[in-house]
Amino acid sequence: MSLTEEIKDYALALGYSRVGVTTAEPFPLYVQALQERADDYDWAVDSGLRLERGVDPQDRLPGARSIIVAVYDYVREHFPEKLVGKIGRLYQSRSYIEPPTSLGGARVQLMRQFLEGKGMQVGRWFLISSGVPDRLAAVRAGVGEIGRNTFVCTPGIGTFVIIHTFIVDTELEYDTPTNVTHCPPTCRLCIEACPTGAIVADFRLNPRRCLTFNHVVNVHGFRNTSPYIDPELRPKMASWIHGCDVCQEACPRNQAKLKAELPVNAFLEVTAQHFSLTGLLKMGREFEMKAVAPLLHTYMQKRKYFQRNAAVALGNSGNPEVVPPLVQAMEDPEELVRGHAAWALGELGGAAARHALEASLTRETGAQAAGEIRAALART
Ligand code: SF4
Ligand code: SF4
Repeated sequence: MSLTEEIKDYALALGYSRVGVTTAEPFPLYVQALQERADDYDWAVDSGLRLERGVDPQDRLPGARSIIVAVYDYVREHFPEKLVGKIGRLYQSRSYIEPPTSLGGARVQLMRQFLEGKGMQVGRWFLISSGVPDRLAAVRAGVGEIGRNTFVCTPGIGTFVIIHTFIVDTELEYDTPTNVTHCPPTCRLCIEACPTGAIVADFRLNPRRCLTFNHVVNVHGFRNTSPYIDPELRPKMASWIHGCDVCQEACPRNQAKLKAELPVNAFLEVTAQHFSLTGLLKMGREFEMKAVAPLLHTYMQKRKYFQRNAAVALGNSGNPEVVPPLVQAMEDPEELVRGHAAWALGELGGAAARHALEASLTRETGAQAAGEIRAALART
C-alpha cells in the first residue's frame, strides 16, 4: 500500500467521506479573486485572516509539496425541529468547532498526528483551517466542485460538507481536478431562495449580505462593518440566529440528504431541549454552558453577539409573548443588545412595547441605542 493510500484509508477511518490529494502549487484564481473583490473582503484584512497568505502554500509551510483535502459530510444525524431554521446544520453537527476536545477538532488533531507519525512536516492549523483556500483545494484534489451558490458540492453527497486541508512537505500521488460544475444550466434555485440576495451572480457571494456573515463574523473592529446589523437585513433573518441553510435547502443536490431518515443523536436532542431564543437573549451562565457552548462557541464567544441575534429573531417572530423578555433586555448592560431589542420591540409593536421604548429612551445613554429606540418608536 502506498503512503497516499495509507493516508486516505486513515482519513476515511476517522469518518471523512472523501479524501483527495493535490500539489502545493499556488492558487492563481484565488489571487485574481482577492484583487478583483478587494471591497467585498476588506473586512477580512482587519480581522487578521490574512487571506493573501493562502495563495501560496509555501507561505504556510516552507517546503510544502502536497495538500491533503478531507471532506466531512456533516448531515449524518437527525437535526431537532427546535433547532432547524435557527442554527445552521454545520454548527449543530459540531463539526466546525476546532479545539482538540471537540469532535471536529479531534479529527483534525488525529489526522495531523498520523501524518507527523509518518515523518511528515504538517502546516499549522489556524482555528478553522490550514490557511489555504479550502474550496479551491477541494476542486484541485478532485473531491468537490463549486456550485452556483459558491458552496463546494461533493458528488454523491451534496453541499453539506466541511473541508479540512492539511499541507505537508512530502510528495504524494495526486488526484485529477474536477474543473467542472454539475449545476444544471438553468437552475437558479439557490439564488432565488436566498432571503437577502447575497448570491449576487452565478458563483459570486456578497459576504456582507449573507446571514452567516452577519451572525458570526460581523463583530466589532472590522473595516466597513458595523456590529449593528443593517436594519434592511434584519427582517430577512427570520428565525436564524447562527448560520443559515436556506440556499442549501433549496438545492436539488441536497434533497436526498434532507429527506433521509437519519439516526437521532441523544446529545443534540438534550441540547435542543435547553435551547430557546428567549434563553439566548438573556444568556444566563447555565444556559450558555448547556445550550450555547456545545454548539455555537467557535470564534464568536462574546455573549452580546448571540443576544443581538436572538433579539432580531424574536422581533421577527410576531409573537407578543416575547415582548416581556425584550423589555427586560432594554436594561442589558450592553448597548448593542439594547439597540437590537429596541428594534425587535418596534417590530412587535403594541402598547407594552411602546411604553417600554418610551421609558428606555429617557435613561438611554448610548447614542446608537437611542437612535434605535427612536426608530422603533416611529414604527409602533
Ligand atoms: S447562507 Fe443564507 S444568506 Fe447566505 S447566501 Fe445562503 S441563503 Fe443567502
Ligand atoms: S440550487 Fe441549482 S444552481 Fe444552486 S447550487 Fe444547487 S444545483 Fe447549483
